[in-house]
Parts: sequence; C-alpha cells; structure tokens
Amino acid sequence: MKIALIAHDKKKEDIIQFATAYRPILQQHELFATGTTGKRIMEATGLNITRFRSGPLGGDQQIGSMVANNEMDMIIFLRDPLTAQPHEPDVSALMRLSDVYQVPLATNMGTAEVLIKGLQEGFMDWRLIQHQED
Ligand code: PGA
Repeated sequence: MKIALIAHDKKKEDIIQFATAYRPILQQHELFATGTTGKRIMEATGLNITRFRSGPLGGDQQIGSMVANNEMDMIIFLRDPLTAQPHEPDVSALMRLSDVYQVPLATNMGTAEVLIKGLQEGFMDWRLIQHQED
C-alpha cells in the first residue's frame, strides 16, 4: 500500500511518535511524505520515505496528484487545528480529493491509530483488488 504521512509543525513530534510506534507495520508499505515531515521521520526511525516538497511549497498538492491518479491508498495528515496555515486551500483540496477517491484519511492521532491497525488487519485489501482492476 502507498501511505502518505503529513504533519503540521506543532504535530511533528506526534507523527514521529506514531511512526516510531508503528514502524513494524509502516515498513511493510511504500511511504511518502511532505518535505519536513519526511525528513524528521526518516531521521527518527530510519524508515525509507519518498519526500515531496514542503507542504506550504506544494507538497500537499503533489500528494493530491497521486490521489487523483488513484495511486495513494491511505493518508495520515496530523493537522494543527489551532494555527492558521498559509496553504489552507491546499489542505482542503487534499481532503476533498481523498473524499472523491474514497481514500482513507486520518486528521488526528485517534483516527490514525484506527487506520493503521485496520490496515494490518486487512481492512484495506479492497484497495489491492481495485488496483488489479485498474
Ligand atoms: P512539511 O509540510 O512536512 O514540509 O512541514 C507539512 C505541511 O505543513 O503541510
């Protein structure tokens, strides 16, 4: 599965904790991230991650383009709900595209944990069937 990891600045520590805790699951998948998030996770965990641009410089849109091509299977996007983001339109666009293509997207740690455990249990296998039909 292709999984995108994104975290706003005040959520970077949270996503590092998440990636550290679920490293055994994450390492079985193909990982993508926005620039700084990916760098921080790689440094902390050694996971192999394809990095896009930083979010404010278009990274969210690059991940959105993968969603539009039906090439992204899950998105963990730990958003900061208390700080205005200069790239809010890009954030909204990524969430909208995820809804268009039925791509599971978590915006907080609680949902992220449910998604990653569901992934491990095989709840996402329908995406593999869909890929075979593409
Ligand atoms: P970053 O981007 O990983 O480069 O910090 C995330 C974001 O702010 O969308």
